[in-house]
Amino acid sequence: MSLRRRLRIARRDGDRCWICQHQLRLDYDPSRPVGPTRIATIDHYVPLSRGGSNALSNLRLACGPCNWRRGNALPDDRPVTTAGGDR
Ligand SMILES: [Zn+2]
Repeated sequence: MSLRRRLRIARRDGDRCWICQHQLRLDYDPSRPVGPTRIATIDHYVPLSRGGSNALSNLRLACGPCNWRRGNALPDDRPVTTAGGDR
């Protein structure tokens, strides 16, 4: 993904992780300390493996830890319950 596209997503999302709201930065300069901010990654709201797209509307700014923790989970993934039986 181009830096320009990533910057666009970062602006839209306010340079914050959409999951934990942590302040993020896209550009990583090893010669300067990152401080309290984290490096930004681009997360797929609906993962590609679950039918998501690369459209801007499906992309979210996320910090590395949140992105990795999510894996391929859907935004509203919940344990499937077999209770009920309204059939
Ligand atoms: Zn986060």
